[in-house]
Amino acid sequence: MRDFHPDSKRISPYFSTNTHQKTICVIGAGPAGLAALKTVLDSNQYKSGKWISLAFEAREEVGGIW
Ligand SMILES: Cc1cc2nc3c(=O)[nH]c(=O)nc-3n(C[C@H](O)[C@H](O)[C@H](O)COP(=O)(O)OP(=O)(O)OC[C@H]3O[C@@H](n4cnc5c(N)ncnc54)[C@H](O)[C@@H]3O)c2cc1C
Repeated sequence: MRDFHPDSKRISPYFSTNTHQKTICVIGAGPAGLAALKTVLDSNQYKSGKWISLAFEAREEVGGIW
């Protein structure tokens, strides 16, 4: 899952180079990982641009083992 925040300047599409902006990484996009991502996206920090989000999933699809 890639995050393209329009205000960020970065050399990689995955991580921000803005030292005032944190990248929140979630490993695994099963139910727990998706809930974590939703929490990040609902946060004031994400909405104000202080955080961006990134998830890594080993499988082809999100959703985990269920
Ligand atoms: C056969 C079976 C039937 C089930 N039936 C039910 C049911 O009917 N009802 C119910 O409520 N629960 C059921 N469960 C339980 C439910 O599937 C789990 O509780 C739930 O999937 C746990 O979610 P999770 O996000 O913690 O882990 P997972 O679902 O295991 O998700 C973890 C994800 O992380 C990924 N991952 C792991 N390591 C890495 C890595 N290093 N890099 C990138 N990605 C990685 C995996 O590919 C996976 O997609 C069942 C489980 C099984 C096995």
